[in-house]
Amino acid sequence: MLVESVDVSGPCVVVRARTRSGVSAGCTGCGTRSAWSHSRYVRHLADTTLGGRPVRIDLSVRRLYCENTACSS
Ligand SMILES: [Zn+2]
Repeated sequence: MLVESVDVSGPCVVVRARTRSGVSAGCTGCGTRSAWSHSRYVRHLADTTLGGRPVRIDLSVRRLYCENTACSS
């Protein structure tokens, strides 16, 4: 996980991060290099505090959608 920014200006600490998934990676099923699309979800870590403030993690996840119609993965 790569941290892109940490915002401490708000009421809670917001950490923006993304997964390290390689841009050059192909489909694990057929090896075809296909389009990556971004999906995003926010993970709340209620039990975590930093300097007494709650921490929220915005994590961007890249998912591979294989363009090979003959590929089952
Ligand atoms: Zn594939």
